[in-house]
Amino acid sequence: MSSPTPRRLLHFVTRRLGLRHYLENPGDGRRQPQIPAQLLLWGLLVGQILRQFSFHALEALVRSQAKRNKAFESSGWIGLAIDGTGAGWRTRQGCALCRPKRNAQEQILGHQHYFVMASVVGTGLSLPLDVEPYGPGDSEYAAGQRLLRRVIGGVGKRFAQYLVVDGEFSTAPFLHTAGDLGLRVVARLKDNLRELFTAAQKRFSSSPPTIVFQQGQDRVEIWDAEDFDPWNTLRWETVRVFRYRQHKPDGKVVEASWFTDFPSSRVGPRALFLMAKSRWEIENQGFNEAKTRHGLEHICHHHANSMLITWLLACLALTIERLYRLRYLHRGTHRCRSGAELVLALWVNLFRPCSADTS
Ligand SMILES: [Zn+2]
Repeated sequence: MSSPTPRRLLHFVTRRLGLRHYLENPGDGRRQPQIPAQLLLWGLLVGQILRQFSFHALEALVRSQAKRNKAFESSGWIGLAIDGTGAGWRTRQGCALCRPKRNAQEQILGHQHYFVMASVVGTGLSLPLDVEPYGPGDSEYAAGQRLLRRVIGGVGKRFAQYLVVDGEFSTAPFLHTAGDLGLRVVARLKDNLRELFTAAQKRFSSSPPTIVFQQGQDRVEIWDAEDFDPWNTLRWETVRVFRYRQHKPDGKVVEASWFTDFPSSRVGPRALFLMAKSRWEIENQGFNEAKTRHGLEHICHHHANSMLITWLLACLALTIERLYRLRYLHRGTHRCRSGAELVLALWVNLFRPCSADTS
């Protein structure tokens, strides 16, 4: 396997991932462009991958390439995770997405920008798919519904089998939207759904676990029952609740409750546990990675469109980087390069004199 260079990366992106058309005609809304859009886009993408800080191409890429090339072959279930985050704190209001943050005396402390992200999870390859911002007067779960409709419109109804979300998305309209789009939901159960939460606590505290198994070094106990009553706005017939208690070797215990509309005839408690755990991928490999290594919180230009494009480019760069590093460069039996190793190899080769590339 030849060493990664920016030119070989471009070859991979245009030929293997089929993004040549998008890179040649990315669209350009600027009034007085001085740098051609193609060069600017590739420069921004390489910059993102080198960590210097509506994308239909992204969805099409993930759908057609990842599935066709069996990028997800190690897993039986493909999940989507949706979650929100904030980025780009500003003390002064300056764009349509600024949401004021106030203290207890109602004084404005500053302005934050928020968006929800959708990511493919549960497959061993986390791929951020798309983002949807929400400004003042809008909400996280409304933005989540818009995002979900757009993502499923792009990748198709059969792409993923489940959607995993945190407790703040546990509203009937959001859950119904997911159901209409053909997705089962695995959602965190917190005390914002007090009645269901209390009923499950009461039931599970007086019964032994449904199943106990070993997950790596950890011992996991799961309580699972599917005959809880839905709250009055939720149109599900019953609600299945499961609680896990994960005992770490150092004595630490992690416990959480979740609910789902997967029937037990289709998905067992052990698979549900893994689906619930896959939500962490959007935190760790989505937001944390994008913030610490790709400058997601940095605002280049304080304007709503500019920020949205920066967030989307960060997602596209993360997706290309992972497909290139973890699948394409990993063909064969050698171990995967780490993200840092790929960045170093690209940097080193960036400054090598160009030779004829016949790859
Ligand atoms: Zn702003």
